[in-house]
Amino acid sequence: MGSRQSPGAVNHSGSMIFMSDYADRGTHPDRDGAPVRVFVPFTKIHPAVRYHLDSFPSFNGLTAGWTSVRMTAEDSYPDFLVRRWEEGLPFLNLEHDVLPWPGALVEIWNCVEEWCTFAYGFNEKFGNGSYMGCVKFSRNLILRTPGLWTPEVWEVTKQYSAAPFWAGPPDGVPSRTWQHCDGHLVNYALQHGLKFHQHFPSVNHLH
Ligand SMILES: [Zn+2]
Repeated sequence: MGSRQSPGAVNHSGSMIFMSDYADRGTHPDRDGAPVRVFVPFTKIHPAVRYHLDSFPSFNGLTAGWTSVRMTAEDSYPDFLVRRWEEGLPFLNLEHDVLPWPGALVEIWNCVEEWCTFAYGFNEKFGNGSYMGCVKFSRNLILRTPGLWTPEVWEVTKQYSAAPFWAGPPDGVPSRTWQHCDGHLVNYALQHGLKFHQHFPSVNHLH
């Protein structure tokens, strides 16, 4: 466990195999030589999600395990993302009740695009907005969006009104909470011309 992880972060061990061993898979230089990093912010990890992640090494051989991070407050999710941005390393974010299909995580990890996402609904196609439940953030994207999840950037971004995806909470209600991370990200992306890359088929949101 690295010293930069938060209290309550637990690394679930996997086989430490590096992407450079799989160069023929055409990975992006951003992630070449780096093990797949999966983080699961959670209050309660669905058993099916845990099973999927625990069996991850056996079907692709590419993971260094996964790290669960307990959410204890309304702003734990954005704070968790602040730490990932401070690390400046690519990672996959998988929410505790989102079940990928086998291979989905490797597919987005390998993709050359900077920001890769899945929808949840059958044949669902994103417009401007994308979910946070199963997503890859590349190093390049992180470096291009400094301070993205900090209260300071959050305050500036929520003034931007061109994002139809996110009206935000009523005035006076805190917006920097787990419910509004998707909206904040989309708002910021629209403001700064960032594009996500949607993969298919959708993954399963277990609710
Ligand atoms: Zn992609």
